[in-house]
Amino acid sequence: MPDIILNRHIPEGYSAADNSLRDRVILVTGAGDGIGRTAALTFARYGATVILAGRTQEKLEAVYDAIEHAGYPQAAIYAIDLKTATEADYTALAEQLENEFSRLDGLLHNAAALGERTSIANYSLASWNQVMSVNVNAQFMLSKALLPLLKKSADASIVFTSSGVGRQGRAFWGAYAVSKFATEGFSQVLAAELENTSNIRANCINPGATRTRMRATAFPAEDPATIKTPEDIMPTYVYLMGPDSKGVTGQSIDAQ
Ligand code: NDP
Repeated sequence: MPDIILNRHIPEGYSAADNSLRDRVILVTGAGDGIGRTAALTFARYGATVILAGRTQEKLEAVYDAIEHAGYPQAAIYAIDLKTATEADYTALAEQLENEFSRLDGLLHNAAALGERTSIANYSLASWNQVMSVNVNAQFMLSKALLPLLKKSADASIVFTSSGVGRQGRAFWGAYAVSKFATEGFSQVLAAELENTSNIRANCINPGATRTRMRATAFPAEDPATIKTPEDIMPTYVYLMGPDSKGVTGQSIDAQ
């Protein structure tokens, strides 16, 4: 059992200390846009060295520049397409991080593919496989490759990104919903395996409705002004990435 049970929310009124992520090395997938972009900038603001992983170089460079411009710790860019990357690609990534940083303190699995919004009867196998590759298989390969580096940290945190449809299936959410159930399960398996054998904790965040490109694609009729911004949900990300959540593992937390 975890040391601390949060009951799906971080402590009320939580506010992180300015330097709470100082000297931490944190990798964020999908760091070029949406929630991942804001998480990368926020982690850097709290003192972390952030490795910006994603598939669109220009977007990653823009985040890198924003971090530099703000005077936060210098970031690093690692371009990788989670849809096509092989186990050898993840091994190469781990080797490069080992050479440059010698350890990893945080891993935010944030990137995801939405896939088709249609019935199972109409769902294409190609789309199903793409969603599973990005949302599930890549998380497995990346986590596995980076475990040795995470084990070198005194206080490491792996954070997965879930969804409401990863806890209760809903019509027309297809592979995306199934992949988020898999994410919740993977996080629990990993947390249980690591709990008494390492300093690594693993938890899920369910962001809730958040103003991003993916949300606009999934809900084209929604007025974006009525939902939270990525900045609004950052306290949960900083809490789970930093020292204040020590002892919290195997849980699924709502950011709203
Ligand atoms: P966005 O579409 O805004 O951002 C997704 C990010 O993932 C982008 O940076 C994108 O890169 C990257 N990405 C997608 N496919 C790949 C790939 N094959 N390889 C590498 N990077 C990839 O989505 P959100 O910010 O909204 O979503 C972030 C997370 O939050 C996801 O896991 C999503 O499922 C989850 N979520 C979001 C909610 C919301 O309301 N927004 C609600 C519940 C969960 P690029 O920009 O280059 O395409």
